[in-house]
Parts: sequence; C-alpha cells; structure tokens
Amino acid sequence: MTKKKITVIGSINMDIVTSTNILPKMGETVLGKAFHTIPGGKGANQAVAAARLGADVSMIGCVGKDTFGKELKQHLNNLGIDVQNVEPVTETSTGTATITVFDGDNSIIVVPGANYHVTPVYIERLEKMIAESDVVLLQLEIPLETVEKAVEIASKHHATIILNPAPIQLLSKELLSKIDYITPNEHEQEMLLTSSDWTDEERKEIIKKCIVTKGAKGVSILKGNERQIPSFNVDVVDTTGAGDTFNGALAYCLSIGYELEEACHFANAAAALSVTKFGAQGGMPTLQEVEEFLQ
Ligand code: ADP
Repeated sequence: MTKKKITVIGSINMDIVTSTNILPKMGETVLGKAFHTIPGGKGANQAVAAARLGADVSMIGCVGKDTFGKELKQHLNNLGIDVQNVEPVTETSTGTATITVFDGDNSIIVVPGANYHVTPVYIERLEKMIAESDVVLLQLEIPLETVEKAVEIASKHHATIILNPAPIQLLSKELLSKIDYITPNEHEQEMLLTSSDWTDEERKEIIKKCIVTKGAKGVSILKGNERQIPSFNVDVVDTTGAGDTFNGALAYCLSIGYELEEACHFANAAAALSVTKFGAQGGMPTLQEVEEFLQ
C-alpha cells in the first residue's frame, strides 16, 4: 500500500481547563480544584488522529509567537506531523479555549487568536503543497474565506476533499459543490440543510456527499442508497474528540484506498476507542490498537 499525503488545514488551540467546586460570580475570586493545559483545536486534533494511525500528515495553520504556540508546534512535530507550514505570527496569541469545569458540566470561552491569521493569501502561497496532497481535510475554526480558497485550490488539483462542518455556519453552494465528503454530526446536518435557500435538487446533491456521525449509533452514508454503519459498544469515559478521531481516521482510510463503507467501519472503531479514554488527543488510538480491537 503506498502511503498518500494528507494535508490538514485548520485550527491549533491550547485548551486551558480549570475545575472548580465553586463558581465565581462576576467580580468574585474563589479557590479552584485543578488546572490543566491540553493541546486541542479541531484541525490539530484531526491531524493527530490521522498521524497516530501512521498517516503521512502535514498541518497548515498558525500559532502565536508565545509559549503555547511553541509548545503546540513541538507537540505536533513530536507526533510525526510535518509542521513546516505552522506559522508563528506576532500580531496575536495562540488560539485558546478556556474551559471551566463545574458540577459535571462546563462553560467555554474560545479566543481564535492566530487561527484567524490563516488567511486566503497564506493558503495561496502554499498551493504547491496542497497540489501534492491526496487528501485535504478541513473544519470551520479558521476564516470561512480561507476554507473556500483552500477548497478551490485542492479541487483544482484533484485532491479528495473532506469538510467537517464544525462549528456549523452558513456555507455556499459553490463551496459545498467542490467537496467530496461532508461529515456533519446530526445537529450540524440539520443546520447544513435548513440554513440556505436551495432547490430540492441542490439539496439532494449536497445530501449525497454527507457522512453523518450519530454518536453511539455510528454513521449514515447518504451517498447512493442510504447505509448505516453501526458503531461499537464500549464503556464511555469521555466523548470529547470523538468526531475529530472519526474525521482523522476517515482521511487516513481514504488516503490508503479503502472503500467508503470500509473506511467508515474503521473510523467508527477508532472513534469508539477514543471515547474509552479521557481527553481529545489523549484518547486517539494507534493503528495497532484499532486492528486489535477489530479482530
Ligand atoms: P461529534 O463528536 O462531532 O459530536 P459524534 O458524537 O457523532 O460526533 O461522534 C463521532 C463518532 O464517534 C461516531 O460516529 C461514532 O463513530 C463515535 N462515537 C461517539 N460516541 C460514541 C459512543 N458513545 N460509543 C461508540 N462510539 C461513539
């Protein structure tokens, strides 16, 4: 099997997690319980998921010229991801998600920071690299016009394009028509199809590209005859990053030539394993772990 090239174009964040037994009111200070920094961002998470499976992954993105940026770039590099085009920018901070965990629930403030410096101009400069990719994997945590530019370039060079439309927003027909696989979860699928004034024919065309992830139920492939690819029954510890693991694994499988159903079966297994462990990237399985699980 020849190893094909996957390029992930997307966000790189540091998740800053504080657990507390008391929730402070505005203006109040309290003592918290625990504090962690955890690498995240949908782009980086999906790149890590594919790399853990042994894929040849390059990441395109931006971090700040700060300690988080340095740490995250090094972290991706340590996992074997090509980070030559993860650019440190001076104008702003590395993207962060500040998460407060309280009473089994959480509240999150996301500051995109450097992720919004992944501009169409930046992407245009990397056309050669995108042209050499077999699979291009995107999400929506960088500016939409950048996603549009990346898709335009990738489609010109006949790469297989996967878009994970998260966080969901209004997407143009032109963008969606150039994508090979759209991977919304159930909530995102609803928004994807109701949020625009398409004709029934146009809607059908988009639906055909969708692989809808349905949590513990697995996925629905809507291309051709609708098919359900069931998930696996596992002991759930933390579902954070399940979708990211699914997308990274799907990209890996398509890059090595799996048929779509087979790819979804494998990606369901990888995602099921990921929910048995804590954290997004921390739970992502290796190729050997998925193969043993599937035996
Ligand atoms: P997201 O995390 O983006 O909301 P989903 O919840 O649909 O996406 O999960 C993505 C995939 O992760 C599912 O299609 C499935 O393969 C796997 N998955 C999620 N939750 C579970 C679970 N409880 N048990 C087994 N697999 C799961």
